[in-house]
Amino acid sequence: MGSTDTKTEIKGLLPEQLEDVLSKHGFKRFRGRQIARWMYGRGSTSFGEMTNLSMSARARLSDRFSILSLECAAVEEASDGSAIKFLFQMPDGARIESVLMREGKRRTLCVSSQVGCPLDCHFCATGKMGLIRNLTPGEIIDQVILARQHLTDRGEDLTNVVMMGMGEPLLNLEAVSVATRIMNLDYGPSISNRRITVSTAGHVPGIHRLIEIGQKVMLAISLNATTDAFRNEIMPINRKWPIEALLDASAAYQVFNGRRITFEYVLLGGLNDSVDHARDLVKLVRRIPCKINVIPWNPIEGEAYDRPDEATIQAFVQTVADALMTVTVRYSKGTEITAGCGQLYQKWAEA
Ligand code: SAH
Repeated sequence: MGSTDTKTEIKGLLPEQLEDVLSKHGFKRFRGRQIARWMYGRGSTSFGEMTNLSMSARARLSDRFSILSLECAAVEEASDGSAIKFLFQMPDGARIESVLMREGKRRTLCVSSQVGCPLDCHFCATGKMGLIRNLTPGEIIDQVILARQHLTDRGEDLTNVVMMGMGEPLLNLEAVSVATRIMNLDYGPSISNRRITVSTAGHVPGIHRLIEIGQKVMLAISLNATTDAFRNEIMPINRKWPIEALLDASAAYQVFNGRRITFEYVLLGGLNDSVDHARDLVKLVRRIPCKINVIPWNPIEGEAYDRPDEATIQAFVQTVADALMTVTVRYSKGTEITAGCGQLYQKWAEA
């Protein structure tokens, strides 16, 4: 049947899936947990390291199975150490970026879910790539494993994950949800659902599917506009699922998970950043328990938007705060290494 040199890839399998696969190949089920510990806890990429398995078991495992490891093609660190950008290469040559942010005791990894993105939000660099392909669960979790190892080497630990890298996580939801479950494993990355955020440009059926899947991760919605007319213009996905439908789905998710939704709002100078826009934003979302995260636009190549000045940012934020809503500004870390929100692009591919 299958050729003998095609090995079954096991990174990205949940422990119970791994047990099933192993027992199908004639191994004892409990080997699944042992291997998952090595793979997701210690970051092992070869069976040779798994010293609690017999030599013969290790040899048989290596004959049949492989353990994916993304190649770290480059690492770039902001001069103040607040952001570290990783360029990862996959076995087929496709490349993605992940960004590690360090702030106080918090170590947050911004993880990619797709190579490129099909949604074409006009202010975002990743949108310019189009969709190249979805990532597998193994490729998603490996970003976490590798960044975590990088931190361990410095005596630090990863505390949070945000699915805010390249791609639209809800368009690759089954893979994302396997990866986020692996993130939970107490012998693995051990990141609780409260410290995992899935961010969406507004894929309404995906939000409902996320409720069905039932893992209570945090949800962020990239709202970015207060009217359908403007949102249609900057985010084509809005033509399919307009603001009201998106807010209804967000409200349903909030009830499901019991925690506040985050609304992200990219400030585009002169377009959506006035005090009146801030008031409209408050009116729109106030029915939903939420926080607002304002992101001043980070410049990308070839886009003619402006980043608002500091006074405009502060006036916007103050207006939201005066309405007694929780609001924060995300001054993206790592813009000097183009690791800020919306700046991730496969540019290094040509380097
Ligand atoms: N597709 C998902 C995940 C990407 S998250 C989503 O849209 O939510 C990326 C976040 O950065 C989104 O909130 C997006 O609105 C924001 N963003 C995109 N381009 C940006 C830019 N150039 N400057 C600042 N924020 C940007």
